[in-house]
Amino acid sequence: MKQSPEIKKAQDNMQPGVITVQGFIGTDHRDLIEILDEDANTVKKFGLTHRQIAGKMREFKEAGLKGLDEFIHVPPHFEVRVSTVRGGLRCPFEDHGMIPKSNIQVKNLKNNTSIDYTDMSIHFIGQHGFYQGKGSPYRTPPEKLAEVLEIHTDPDTQQ
Ligand SMILES: [Zn+2]
Repeated sequence: MKQSPEIKKAQDNMQPGVITVQGFIGTDHRDLIEILDEDANTVKKFGLTHRQIAGKMREFKEAGLKGLDEFIHVPPHFEVRVSTVRGGLRCPFEDHGMIPKSNIQVKNLKNNTSIDYTDMSIHFIGQHGFYQGKGSPYRTPPEKLAEVLEIHTDPDTQQ
């Protein structure tokens, strides 16, 4: 697939120092469209959808908000901490107003894994199927999200 002008612009906005100090693309030198394609294939292979993954990330965020910046137990075997940060960021795809800046940490106590993500990660995945470039500190590989958040194919929620 070829990179459109919109995708090229989004990739420029993802460089370090444009929206955030570290940017969203890390040390990944591929075209954004290739990054999107590869992660979309992984998601498909797992029988999941971007929307389903983002939905689960949002559920953990909502459950964790009750902890008021501390880890709280989320049944059956998770610990979640949501750190709220003031302010917002614009999305590099230029489709939205400001995205909030919370940090979400989820620990899975059953399989001993954990992942950190942000409101921007949820937005990126739900709206753009973007999991960030390799080497980005906030890259959230779909296979890791599926493992930590225990996201499984559920025929009832497939669209
Ligand atoms: Zn966006």
